[in-house]
Parts: sequence; C-alpha cells; structure tokens
Amino acid sequence: MIHFVGAGPGAPDLITLRGAELLQRAGMVVYAGSLVNPELLEMTPTGCEIYDSASMTLEQVLEKLAAGEKKGVTTVRLHTGDPSLYGAVREQMDGLKKLGIEFDVVPGVSSFCAAAAAARVEYTLPGVSQTVIITRMEGRTLVPEREKLSLLARHRASMALFLSSGLLKESCKALTDEDCYAPDTKAAIVYKASWPEEMVLRGTVGTIAAQAEAAGIKNTALLLVGDFLGDDYDLSKLYDASFSHAFREASK
Ligand code: SAH
Repeated sequence: MIHFVGAGPGAPDLITLRGAELLQRAGMVVYAGSLVNPELLEMTPTGCEIYDSASMTLEQVLEKLAAGEKKGVTTVRLHTGDPSLYGAVREQMDGLKKLGIEFDVVPGVSSFCAAAAAARVEYTLPGVSQTVIITRMEGRTLVPEREKLSLLARHRASMALFLSSGLLKESCKALTDEDCYAPDTKAAIVYKASWPEEMVLRGTVGTIAAQAEAAGIKNTALLLVGDFLGDDYDLSKLYDASFSHAFREASK
C-alpha cells in the first residue's frame, strides 16, 4: 500500500494528523522537493529512505514507490498542499494500478486555503460571490480553450490563480478583458502562505502585477481576485436571528 499524502501549504504543523502518523512510521518517502517543507521529513524515523522527486521522471517515481512496496515498508508519496490540485498524482495512481500496487490518499490543506487564512478573507461572501474559481494561467501546460482566463473572469466570481506568478502581467491583462473584472477590482498576492517568509500584497487587478514585481515575487504565490477582498457584503442567513434553520429557531 502506497500513501499519497498532502503535506499542506508549508508550515509543518499544517499537515493532517493522519499524514503525520504515516510519516512517523515511514520506511520510504518520495517528496516533491520544490515546494514541500523539508522540516516535515524530520518526523520520519531513522533509517527511512528519503528521495526528492524534483529531478525524477514519472517512471523513476514509480520505480521508487514500487521498491518501497516490495520491501514491505510504509511508503509515502508526499505532495504539497492537497494532492488533488496540480499535483500530477493521477498519472502516478494509474501507474500504480498498472503495477497492481494498492494506494490511498490523505488530503492536505491546499495553499488556496492557507492564502485565505493569511489574508483573513472568506471566498464565499453572501451578496458578493458563492463560487471560487481555481485555475491557472496557461504556461507550458495548456489550458483548454473554453477555460481561457478571460472567459472564466466574466463570472466575476472569487478567483484563486495557481502557478502563474511568472505571468502576472499577462494574467491581469486577461482578467480585465471586456466584460471581465473592472481594473479597480481588489486583488491580492499571497507569497509562501504559512511559511515564515509569508507575504500578503493587497491592491487591484490593475496594480497588483507591478506590486509583485517591486516586491520581487516570482514563484510560490497565489493571485487572488474578486470583490470578496473588499468590505461590502450581506450578513449570512446562518447566524441571522430572524432566520430559522434545522439547528435553530428564529428569535426575532
Ligand atoms: N497541490 C498544491 C498546489 C501545487 S501547484 C496545493 O494544493 O496548494 C504549485 C503552486 O501552488 C505554486 O506555483 C503556487 O501558485 C501555489 N502554492 C503552493 N504553496 C503555496 C504557498 N504556501 N503559498 C502560496 N502559493 C502556494
């Protein structure tokens, strides 16, 4: 059994208890070295074999995992944030299936959650937006035509852009195309959410790219865009005294 584990956004105490427990008894860990905080590896017992997958191919990763399985040790494939987002885990899961190796997945705190925590915001504000669009700017990995940033931006929903810090100018240009976000829509860059060097820049879609450039931010950042970053919203029904629901009778 191979365990895919979400390492969380960076801070070592943001891994789940289940993920930590697996690391504590791991005999082999293959971790995504570019973003996983190496401090997490200190949880592993002495003698645990540790491999950084940053320079490996899919085949090499699968070889390592298969070797761990063969040895019969607890084998952990450690991914940043939650494995289901931009984790390239599906191909690994399918590779293991072909090899007849069982696996499970332990979810993690995604960086878009850590970014909201860092910026002290809620993506889903009543009267503002009830939708979060998680996407990326097209880079070497293509994005389907129908998911072009300027098409998604037309919803003016709350948006979190992954993997696009090197393309901020282009992203902001697409986000402010006709019928998209107005250039004065609030935007924020969250750099290394939950790491000691965490930084939150606040501005607008029109200004944020220049702010990020001035701050020297080139990677490990999320661009957040939408009116949820502003201060206008409706109060929730959930805690509204005049509103009854399954757990509370209206008191007004
Ligand atoms: N599976 C991960 C995302 C991996 S893709 C998750 O759930 O978070 C890598 C991208 O995630 C980076 O380019 C950056 O946009 C974002 N990212 C990862 N960790 C981050 C962090 N601590 N703060 C801000 N952005 C982060």
